[in-house]
This record gives sequence, C-alpha cells and structure tokens, in this order.
Amino acid sequence: MINVEWTVTAQEGNARTGILRTRRSTIETPVFMPVGTQGTVKGVRFEWLEDELDARIILGNTYHLFLRPGAEIIRSIGGLHKFSTWNRSLLTDSGGFQVFSLTDLRKLSEEGVEFRSHINGDKKFLSPEVSMEVQAALGSEVVMVFDECAPGKADFETTRKSLELTARWAQRSKKRFDELQNQGLDTGFLEAENLSGRQALFGIVQGASHLELRRESLEKTIEIGFDGYAIGGLSVGEEKSVMYDVIENIAPQMPENSPRYLMGVGTPEDLIEAVYRGIDMFDCVLPTRNGRTGSAFVSSGKLNIRNAKFAKDTEPLDFDCPCSVCKRYSKAYIRHLYQTGEMLAAILISHHNLAFFLDTMRKVREAIRLGSFGNFRRDFINKISESEKQTKFEN
Ligand SMILES: [Zn+2]
Repeated sequence: MINVEWTVTAQEGNARTGILRTRRSTIETPVFMPVGTQGTVKGVRFEWLEDELDARIILGNTYHLFLRPGAEIIRSIGGLHKFSTWNRSLLTDSGGFQVFSLTDLRKLSEEGVEFRSHINGDKKFLSPEVSMEVQAALGSEVVMVFDECAPGKADFETTRKSLELTARWAQRSKKRFDELQNQGLDTGFLEAENLSGRQALFGIVQGASHLELRRESLEKTIEIGFDGYAIGGLSVGEEKSVMYDVIENIAPQMPENSPRYLMGVGTPEDLIEAVYRGIDMFDCVLPTRNGRTGSAFVSSGKLNIRNAKFAKDTEPLDFDCPCSVCKRYSKAYIRHLYQTGEMLAAILISHHNLAFFLDTMRKVREAIRLGSFGNFRRDFINKISESEKQTKFEN
C-alpha cells in the first residue's frame, strides 16, 4: 500500500522539479497550495480551482475545522472531500500553529495544549493524538505532525526546549498515525474503494532563527522518519534575510528523496528564493487575504486597487497574466467594485492572485526543466525592484 510517491524530475543547483503522487492527484512541484482554511478557498469556487487554475492540492486547517463544524460531523459525512466535494489532494495542518497564536487562551503541558475556542470560549484540548484523529476524520492526503511553534524571536534555551517537545510530539504523532492507518480510520481510505494509497505523514523542523537548533531539529525529525519534511516557524516576523538563511542551510540537508515543504510562505518573490534554495512545496493565505483588501500581485510587484490613479485605467491588473479576470476586467471597473463594497471585487482579485501564484510556479518548473531558472529568478526579481524604484520616485 503506498501513501505518496515522490520523484525528482530535473535539477538546477538546489532548485528541483518533481512529481508527487497521492491517492487523489498528481502534483507537479515546486507547487503552491491555495489555503482553504474552513474547507473553502475564500471567495473561489472549486470549479475555478479545478478548471482554469488547475490547483492539484489545497490546504485545510485542522484547528478551524475541529472547532466548526467539528471532527464528528465531518467523519459522519465521510470526510472533508465528501463534505466539500473537493476531489483532489488535501493537505491538513496539525492545528498547532493556530493554537500557539492564541497566547492568552492556552495552557501548554507535556500532554498537549488546553485552549479556549476563539469563537465561544469553550475549553478544548489538542495533543498529537487528537490532531492525528481529527486529520484522519478529515481524510486528507498529507497529514502534518503536531508541533509546538516557538515565537520567531525566541531565545536559544526556550527554542531548544520547544524543539525537544516538538520531537517527542512528532514521535507520538507518528505512533497514533500508524495505529489509525492500521485500523482503517482514515475517512479517505474508507470512502474510496477505488483509491489506492493511504495518508502520508510529514515531519516539521523547528528551531526559530537558531541554525544550530534547526540542524538538531532536522536530525531528530529524520531519525523518526517521515514521508516528507517541512520547515515550520518561518515568516513569523523575523527579517527576510534570517528566513532565507535558515532555508539555505536547512533545505539542502533535508532528505533528497522526499518532498520539502516550507510552511506559510510567502510572496511570489519568497517562493522563487526558496525554490532556489531547494524547497518543493508552499502554502500561504496571501493571495486570498490580499484579494479581500484590494491588493493584487502583478509582474511588477504589488498594486493597490484603491489607488485613485486606477479610476480611469482601462487596462487589466496584469497584461502578462493569462487569467480570466485579466482577459475581461479593467482596473477601473475592479476599483469601482472595491470602492462600492461589492463582494465581486474580492472574488476577482483573489482569483487573479491565485492565478498569478500558480502561473509563476508553472514558469518556475518550466525554467528548471530548461536549465534557465537562474535567469528566470534574476529577471523576476529585477522587474519587482524596478517597480519599487518607480513607486519611490512617484511618491
Ligand atoms: Zn490575472
């Protein structure tokens, strides 16, 4: 019985393309995974994600789905795929990141984390075992271990304690995960007789900005052994140079024959810089979150549709973007929708932003295959910095 199959198909320096096969879809990497926090990618219907955007894998958030509608409801309906009708791959996070963002509402122990729901204040408990059980109920293709996320600026000793706890939790996660798989309690497995393969489990490397601790965490994680490896706890307020430094030192040390996933990152520029340093998988809320605040990602950087200079601008958000929004709608019209509070503004910009991210990754894969990723990276970054120069000049 396979869980995921992983093959590297081309390599240029540390950058690589690969194919990740799960029981539900074939995913070309480097890949950007749109975030579907509540079982929906905000403002974007699955039809668009499947057809035009061709997303092969999206994320679901264990924390949010655990609170609402709750694991029992999703299990009784047959899993998140059946509940939502999304039939391609799903990756679920462990809930750890969200729980540890609730600094005032939680109590940490060796056993797990007790916290109060941000919705109604109810007392809840998450542990490695509970997280594995919820993710089995969701029936995702890729399950993440339950980890503790130390704050980005945590000192050496705090970070060391945190990563030691994370390693013990990773071991417990794996034990419970294996039991659930052996008992056939993964809803994806139960639901689909024609699906071969089970859930995969990814380990997470922590250690904040301390390289020595990052290496230690990586060793411990590899020792336990997972189907894939992730870098967690980055893009949480540290300097960009610190983030790139951690990736540069850790990604190439991660097992070559497993996918490498950078959690919660980032802008298109960050994605390219991380691919350059050896990362294969990404997720981030930026395309849809910015979509709701009127901010569009374009080849020249970012543009804010609220800007008065777009009031009569009949051009698309981005001439180079192949998406259906850019084929049809003008900046002036989208700006008008935004200014009048029409929900379509957020829908259109979110759609375009996701298209821009996914298309950028398509170009990245193509460039690596052709051996021209070095040039692609330089051109991409140059276009952005030129526009920033221009913005400064205009101000
Ligand atoms: Zn577009």
